[in-house]
Amino acid sequence: METAEIRRRWLSFFESKGHLVVPSAPLLHDDPNLLFVNAGMVPFKPYFLGQETPPSLRATSVQKCVRTQDIEEVGKTSRHGTFFQMNGNFSFGDYFKEGAIQFAWELVTSSVESGGFGLDGEKLWATVYEDDDEAIELWRGLTGIPMERIVRRGKADNYWHMGVPGPGGPCSEIYYDRGPAYGPEGGPAVDEDRFMEFWNLVFMQYELSAVRSKEDFDVAGELPKKNIDTGMGLERIASILQGVDNMYEIDEVKPVLTRAAEMTGKAYGIHSGHSAGESHPDDVRLRVVADHVRSSLMLIGDGVTPGNEGRGYVLRRMLRRAVRSMRLLGYDDPCLPELLPVSLERMKQSYPELESGFGRISAIAYAEEEAFRRTLAAGTTILDTAVTRTKSSGATTLSGSDAFALHDTYGFPIDLTLEMAQEQGLEVDRDGFTRLMTEQRQRAKADAKAKKSGHGDTTAYRGIADGIGRDVEF
Ligand code: ATP
Ligand code: MG
Ligand code: MG
Ligand code: MG
Repeated sequence: METAEIRRRWLSFFESKGHLVVPSAPLLHDDPNLLFVNAGMVPFKPYFLGQETPPSLRATSVQKCVRTQDIEEVGKTSRHGTFFQMNGNFSFGDYFKEGAIQFAWELVTSSVESGGFGLDGEKLWATVYEDDDEAIELWRGLTGIPMERIVRRGKADNYWHMGVPGPGGPCSEIYYDRGPAYGPEGGPAVDEDRFMEFWNLVFMQYELSAVRSKEDFDVAGELPKKNIDTGMGLERIASILQGVDNMYEIDEVKPVLTRAAEMTGKAYGIHSGHSAGESHPDDVRLRVVADHVRSSLMLIGDGVTPGNEGRGYVLRRMLRRAVRSMRLLGYDDPCLPELLPVSLERMKQSYPELESGFGRISAIAYAEEEAFRRTLAAGTTILDTAVTRTKSSGATTLSGSDAFALHDTYGFPIDLTLEMAQEQGLEVDRDGFTRLMTEQRQRAKADAKAKKSGHGDTTAYRGIADGIGRDVEF
């Protein structure tokens, strides 16, 4: 079943159950706590918080999302994209647990002929919050899932709140068992690749009075109106229904991967097992390319431009990482002019505005690739000089300060420094490099703190910059 058809079925199912169909909000939603919309509920927050009256007590959407915190998972797990789409159904004080579980089960297990997704109920597992006996009873009574496939989990996995006092509550997730080729028996607690989470049902049930951390908060009491917020990853259900190993192989993403494989002459998938955990590095890189090209298309489409901080920085790093990955796969020419149009071809079915905006979008992306190519060219000369100097002094290790200067002044990625130094028979003082990076980051943090001027999103930006700056090198 094509992704576009899954989306259509989702919306028409919930429309038939009295939900108002709401179009996706842009990725840049006006929310001071968020870099990008990262869940289907974000545009509905004012209704959940009781700040605005919803136009309907039931709503459904397919929301564009970007989760920068998942960037390092991309290509290594089967299920994490930086950009993805979240199918959602929402109840604002209308139906609650029973309705949410009933709808979910009906849509997922009813036959393809009758408009459902036709999944075999025997392959489905549910997780519930450890104390939520009510949810267990409902799963058992409404769906017949046996106790062996209902798993109790703690706050880290199965409790939702916004990190501040306000609504919160337990959640219950649906997992699909993809079979022994993907990993060991034992359920979601043992292997989240074989047992793949695809739908999260949040039961917004309590008022939290204090929130100290994800797992440490006080419940003041029940909410007067209980809400439902669910999210099903469109790419995840697509990978299940299309019978492919991971979300990079679904119809909306795979053509970019295939094109990248052709360009680099790499045969995708021949070295890998079904489980993403055992993938060949080239396969991981091809998936990264496919993911980041699509995410860049969607981000620029929604008005982001490459820059050195915040949202623009996220985009810049994704574009660079795509280009870098192609180079590591052996392709040195400009690659985005070959890849971006392939992504457009797939995504325009659901987002026709991408086509009319493609002149602008592609100009931004291609210019960024050109700039990065110049950076690489400049850094390469400097690196060669440093290598020669190091060798003539009789040393076998390129100093941390050389690597840092390349990174800091020329934007030259450390993994490239490592690789190219190695080609010339040198190691790199990584510890020295890391120490200098840490010092610089601490200086930047101190500066940012000093400059903090009531801008609500400084913390979010800093978190993101830290998150992708620390471990991912481009
Ligand atoms: P996981 O544990 O696999 O990282 P999650 O628990 O973080 O997922 P939720 O916050 O519950 O995800 O989001 C609701 C749904 O959105 C998930 O059940 C999944 O189907 C989908 N989803 C979440 N993150 C991603 C992602 N990075 N790429 C694709 N789909 C995602
Ligand atoms: Mg996650
Ligand atoms: Mg999860
Ligand atoms: Mg979840």
